[in-house]
Amino acid sequence: MAINIDAYKGVLAQLSPYHAKLVAVSKTKPVADIEAFYAAGQRIFGENYVQELTDKQAVLPADIEWHFIGHLQSNKVKYIAPFVHTIHAVDSLKLLQEINKQAAKQQRVIHCLLQVHIAAEETKFGMDEQELQQLLQTYAANPLDFSQVRIAGMMGMATNTTNEIQVRKEFHQLRQLFGSVKTTYFNKEDYFKELSIGMSADYTMALEEGSTMVRIGSLLFGERNYSQM
Ligand SMILES: *Cc1c(COP(=O)(O)O)cnc(C)c1O
Repeated sequence: MAINIDAYKGVLAQLSPYHAKLVAVSKTKPVADIEAFYAAGQRIFGENYVQELTDKQAVLPADIEWHFIGHLQSNKVKYIAPFVHTIHAVDSLKLLQEINKQAAKQQRVIHCLLQVHIAAEETKFGMDEQELQQLLQTYAANPLDFSQVRIAGMMGMATNTTNEIQVRKEFHQLRQLFGSVKTTYFNKEDYFKELSIGMSADYTMALEEGSTMVRIGSLLFGERNYSQM
C-alpha cells in the first residue's frame, strides 16, 4: 500500500482547531516514504525500533524532529541520545535516569513523556498510578539530578477495541490524571504540556479528550507488513 498525502492533509485539518501536533509514525516504512511526507511539510516522525531509527536518521534531513515512541530498553538509550527530540514511553525511574545521563554526555536536553497504563489489556507497557507517583516524587525531591531531561507530559495507549465508550473512558481518565499531575508537580513551570494520545483508529476521539500530540502511522503510510522486516 502506498502513502496517502490526501489523508495527511485531512489529519492536519482535523488537528488545526486543537493546535495539536502530528507525529507521523514511520516504523517499518522505507526512507522514500518519509521523504515524501517531508516534502509535503511534515517534520515530526516517530519510530519504535532503535536500530531502524538510527539507520533512518543518518540518511534523512537533519531538521527532522525524531520521536521515539516504542518501548525503550535502558541499555539502548545511548544510541539515540545524540539526536532524539522526544521519548514518549518513559515507563520507569531507571529509564529516566539513564536518559538524563546519556543526554548529559551529549550536552543535550531530551524531552520525555511518562507512559501510563490506561488500557484494559495486560500486554501494553506503562506505569500504573502508584509507580507514576513514586517517579514524580523522586523527581520533585531531586530536580538537579534530572537537569538534562524535560518532563514534557504524558503518553498513553487505549485498549485496542472498537468499543468507543471504552476508549473514550480511558482517554478521559488519563487526561484527568494529567491535570492533577500538572497541578501537583509542574504548577509553576512552563512544561508538562503534552498529552500524547490517539492513533489512526482513535485520534479524533483523543483530540476531543485533550490530546496535544497524535501518533499516526497506518492512515498515512498504509498498513504495516512486519513479515518484510
Ligand atoms: C505503531 C504505533 C502507533 C501508530 O499506530 P497506527 O495505528 O498505525 O496509527 C502509535 N503509537 C505507538 C506507540 C505505536 O507503536
